[in-house]
Amino acid sequence: MVRDIVIYPDKRLKQKSLPVEKFDEELHTLLDDMYETMIDKKGVGLAAIQIGVPKRVLIINIPLDEEDGAQPKENTLEVINPQFLEMSGSTKYQEGCLSVPGFYEDVSRYSKVKLKYFDRYGKEHILEDDDFLAIALQHEFDHLEGKLFIEKLSIIKRKKFEKEWKKRNSKK
Ligand SMILES: [Zn+2]
Repeated sequence: MVRDIVIYPDKRLKQKSLPVEKFDEELHTLLDDMYETMIDKKGVGLAAIQIGVPKRVLIINIPLDEEDGAQPKENTLEVINPQFLEMSGSTKYQEGCLSVPGFYEDVSRYSKVKLKYFDRYGKEHILEDDDFLAIALQHEFDHLEGKLFIEKLSIIKRKKFEKEWKKRNSKK
């Protein structure tokens, strides 16, 4: 089921999400709904709090290739209770967010990460990445901590964003 996305400046986006304790049917439904919502909104990643559920759950699905942009469900990385074990290097990438629709800006992140997480069945995994996935994981992880990518912008860029955002929303 496609759910509504929580949009900035909704206070729920500032909430720190809580660890998942039961890897049950309810979690599986949440993950399935997150996938459908992410696809519907044409995103590559989504955290549970973005549909109003304060649980430490995130998904990422990087399109197979830029042209057709297919995101088959079996390619979805489902990450529960993640914990970064290592982070190093630095990189800059133009990020966007389904909770801040239509706004894109360069953000600095670690270029390489090592992450421990659990899948939907409660099995522990460790993954390492030094490409786009590393960036996406940091972006989504921030949501679990109640942080948004716009908080990482310089003061000048943040002001530019607030101005644009206000202008756009006053037109509606
Ligand atoms: Zn986001």
